[in-house]
Amino acid sequence: SKFMSKVHNYSAGPCILPQEVFEEASQAVTNFNNIGLSILEISHRSKEFVTVMEDARSLVKELLEVPEGYTVLFLQGGASLGFLVSAYNMMPVGGKGVYVETGAWATKAVKEAKLLGNVDVVASSSDKNFNYIPKGYTVPADADYLHITSNNTIFGTQFKSFPTSDAPLVCDMSSDIFSRKINVADFDIIYAGAQKNLGPAGTTLYIVKDEVLGKIDRPIPAMLDLNVHAIKDSMFNTPPVYPIYVSMLNLRYMIKEGGIEVQQKKAEDRAALLYNEIDNNPLFEGTTAVEDRSNMNATFNLTDESLKEKFDEMWKAANINGLKGHRSVGGYRASMYNALPIESVQVLVDIMKKLNS
Ligand SMILES: *Cc1c(COP(=O)(O)O)cnc(C)c1O
Repeated sequence: SKFMSKVHNYSAGPCILPQEVFEEASQAVTNFNNIGLSILEISHRSKEFVTVMEDARSLVKELLEVPEGYTVLFLQGGASLGFLVSAYNMMPVGGKGVYVETGAWATKAVKEAKLLGNVDVVASSSDKNFNYIPKGYTVPADADYLHITSNNTIFGTQFKSFPTSDAPLVCDMSSDIFSRKINVADFDIIYAGAQKNLGPAGTTLYIVKDEVLGKIDRPIPAMLDLNVHAIKDSMFNTPPVYPIYVSMLNLRYMIKEGGIEVQQKKAEDRAALLYNEIDNNPLFEGTTAVEDRSNMNATFNLTDESLKEKFDEMWKAANINGLKGHRSVGGYRASMYNALPIESVQVLVDIMKKLNS
C-alpha cells in the first residue's frame, strides 16, 4: 500500500507532510496553475500569488474558526523571531512580560524578551529537566502578557488546558497547532513556525488579536511590527512564496480530511497507541509526567540500555526515520505530526513488542 512504500518519518521538524501535498507542490514548480510559469518566477504581487496568500490566510481562519477581530499573517524569521516579535508587540516601555518556562524553546523566548524589559518567569519545570507542565502558579496583576509554549517539542510535554488569568495570553504553538481544537479568542497572539504541522520551513504563522496591533508606544522595527504587516495584508516585503504556497495546500488538505476534529482524533489515536505500548512493555518507560505528555512528541527510554543496539537496528531495518531523542533528553522521541499515518505508529509498536518477545 501507499504508506508501506515510504519511510516512516518520525522527524521532529522539518517533518512529514502529506504525499498529495508534495505532488501538487512539485507541479507548481514547473507550471503553476497552468499559467506556463513556475510559482518561483512570478511576482508576489501577481493576482495568482495574491490569491495564494489570501487563500492561506482564510483557510487558517476556517480551520481554527478564528473569530472576527483577528488577523492572520504569514511572516518570516521562524518561531525564534516570534519570541522577539511577540515581546515587541506586547510589552510597553517599562512593562512586564510573564513567562511559563516549560522547555528549551520557552527558555529562548524568555531570553529574547529580556532584551526589551522586565521578565518574570512565574513558573518553571527546569528542576526536573522539563518533564512536566507547572501548575498552580499565580500570574502577577501587573503582567502585560503571559507567554506559554503549548507543546514542548524537545522534552515531550503539552499543556492539556491553557492557563486562565487576566493577562493577555501569548502562545508559541509551533509544534501542536492544527492538531487540536483551540479557542482562538483566548489568545492575543498565537505564533508558529510552519515546519511542524503546517508546511515547509521558511514561514511563520501569526494569529493576532486586532487590539494588539499598534498598541505599544515604543518604536518597533518595521519587520517586527505586526501592525505594519497587517496593514500590508502580509505583503509588506516579499513573502516566502513557496513555503506559503505549500502551507496553503496542506491547509486545504487538512480541511478536506475533515478539519480540526479529524486531526485531533488522529493525534489522540496515534498517541494512545504508542503510549499504551510504552506503559505496558517492561522494556520501555516514558520520560514525562503522564498527565502532561504530548500527543505530538512522545519521549521514552529503554529500561535496559544493553538492548539499545538491537532496538536501533530493528527500527532502522523497518524503514523508521528520526526516532533518536534530542541530545538534551537522550533516549527516543517519536514525533507524530498530523501527516503521520497511524500505520507508521503500528510499525514502531510492533517492533517494540518484538523486542520484548
Ligand atoms: C521548532 C520550534 C521552535 C523554533 O522554530 P524556528 O522556526 O526554527 O525558529 C520554537 N518553538 C517551538 C515550540 C518549536 O517546536
